[in-house]
Formats: sequence, structure tokens, C-alpha cells
Amino acid sequence: MSKYSRRGLLAGSAATAAAFAQSSAAKPKNIVISSANGLICCQRAMQILQSGGDTLDAVVQGVTLVENDPADDSVGYGGLPNEEGVVELDASVMHGPTRRAGSVAGVQNIKNVAKLAKTVMEQTHHIMLVAEGARRFAKAMGFPEENLLTEKSRLAWMVWKQSLRDPQGNSNWNGGRNAAKPNIAQLRKAFPDATEELLAYAWDRAIHPPTGTINCLALNAKGEMSGTTTTSGLAWKIPGRIGDSPIIGAGLYLDQDVGGAGSTGLGEENIRVCGAHTIVENMRRGMSPKDACLDVLKRISRNYNDDKSRMTFNINFYALRKDGAYGAATLFGEGGKLPQFAVNDGANGPQSRLEDTAVLYTR
Ligand code: ASP
Repeated sequence: MSKYSRRGLLAGSAATAAAFAQSSAAKPKNIVISSANGLICCQRAMQILQSGGDTLDAVVQGVTLVENDPADDSVGYGGLPNEEGVVELDASVMHGPTRRAGSVAGVQNIKNVAKLAKTVMEQTHHIMLVAEGARRFAKAMGFPEENLLTEKSRLAWMVWKQSLRDPQGNSNWNGGRNAAKPNIAQLRKAFPDATEELLAYAWDRAIHPPTGTINCLALNAKGEMSGTTTTSGLAWKIPGRIGDSPIIGAGLYLDQDVGGAGSTGLGEENIRVCGAHTIVENMRRGMSPKDACLDVLKRISRNYNDDKSRMTFNINFYALRKDGAYGAATLFGEGGKLPQFAVNDGANGPQSRLEDTAVLYTR
């Protein structure tokens, strides 16, 4: 690179950093963003911000609604279990004003793991507790223990187990040797009490093991920020598998001076690029939230030499800057639809809205 162009680049990066400094001097406002499953979460968090509450209380109380919802099979109660049928949850929190973090991973029988991660942050000098230690800590801190498997998620797990075959197509279940993969008619016989709708859901989940999570980021009118990410992780995972959600710097990162970022989607891909931290550093250097997210998706794509046919997963990033600018990006827009994320800036009364994410590729 010539001296001239290097100087040009330096001047360019000084200009973008100056632009960021100027925009981040803009008057902050209450704003909450989350993954698309967080409309109600953003609404709750905004109520708390508007009543003067702390940003971390806001996001944690927001995601708690989703953790408690048995209809969301990606988080908390009703989250899809590991390969042994046990729900294992991961979560992290970061509190901008005190620059602190907490996280828990592989937790069984405790529903509200975002709150548990916050309790680790508030009550201990540790940042991360896992598995049995995290469960015992939760118990000691008064969190109720409960079975997190719902009838719906148990059925989906049973259908997944029954769909497993060895390379010759044999199964341990009815049909035995050379048993055809289950279809809805066979499932109907195996699960006579389940509705058609439930069987169709369970079959879809069995053959397309979903990922799913909620990430939520908030900024208040004082310019304070916090974030949280909570998940049941990858459906049918090997017990003990931990994704990106509880890893500070991957599933969540926040720097009170710059902004925050989080992720949903296949955590293994995110961990390899330290996604949330990289996004925050990109924003520190002057990138918009959307471009900061797209840059990280490009790093993930680069890990596959940009060969789309090998990227058989999807992943989303969300970013909120200290000046209230926000954005999100997804690796693949699928089926002609743009993926979305939830936003609440108080503009629609209490209602949150969905906005389209940017996409790196379509398929
Ligand atoms: N990122 C989470 C994980 O890999 C799951 C997800 O968001 O779908 O555990």
C-alpha cells in the first residue's frame, strides 16, 4: 500500500470515528430491540424504561415473558430438549453502567436463566456458572426447580428419536429393520392422542432441528445500556453442549461507550468469530450497526470460503448503538422473505414493531 493511500485510510478512519463521536453525542432515547420472537419482550422492557427503571431490569423482565411462554420452543419453559429429552438452558447479561456481566450455561430445571445470569452478576464475583453448580446456586438463591419439558416438546423429542436410523435404515422402534422413516400416518398410530397440528409440528422439528433464542438490547434516555441473551440452544444437542448465548463476546457483548450486540442462530458459527464483540468493535471504529453485523456475517462466510452450498445453517446478529442507531443482519434470507427483528422506540404507543433485517445472501 502506498504511503498516500495509507494516509487516506487513516484519515478515513479518523473521519468515521469522528462521525461516530458526533452521532453518539446525540440525545439518547428509550429504545429496545430484540430477535423477532420478542415483540412482547420489547413492549415490557419499554414500559420499564419509561417508568425510569434500569436497562438490565428492563431486558431481563422482557425476556422472562418469553422464557415463561410454553409456545416459544426456543427458550425457557417448553424449550426443545437435548438428545436425552432434558431441557438445558443458557443465558448471559451485560449491564453497561457498571460494566459487569453474568452468565449461566447448561442449566437444568430452572426456567428463568436470564434472571439467574443477572443474579450471578449481582451476588457473586464470578461471571459464569454452569450445569449442576448453576442449578444449585439457583436453588440457593430461591429459584423454583421445575420440569421444563411440556407435552408438546416431549412429543417433538419422541418423534425425533423415532426418526433416527442407522446407515442401513434400521431403527430401534416399531418397524425395526429397514423401517421407513416415519410419516404422518405412522405418527398418528404411534401417538393416537396427538392432534394433526401437533404431529405436523413435531415432525417438522424432528427433521429440521431448530435453533432459537431471544436476544434483547436496551438504551434509556440517560444513555445507559444493557443486554441479555437466553436460549434452550440447539434442539437435540449432545448433553452438555453450550452454544454462543452464554458466552460473553459471542452471543452478547456490550460496551457502555459504544453499544451492544447479540445473536441468534447456530452458535458454533458465532463462537468462531466472536460475533457480538466484533460487532461492537466495528461500531467503535465507525461502522453503522447494520454494516457492523454484515461484516461479521462475511467473516462466517469466509470460514466456508464463501461457498454457500456448505453453509447449511442460518444466523442473525442485532446491534444497538449508544446514539440509538440500530440494525440487524441475517446470513440467509430464505424463501423470498426477509427475516425480521423486533423494535420498540415508543413510536407506536406501547406496541413493538417488526423491521426487516439486512441479508448477506438469499436462498
Ligand atoms: N444461538 C443459540 C445456540 O447456538 C441457539 C439459537 O439462537 O438458535 O445455542
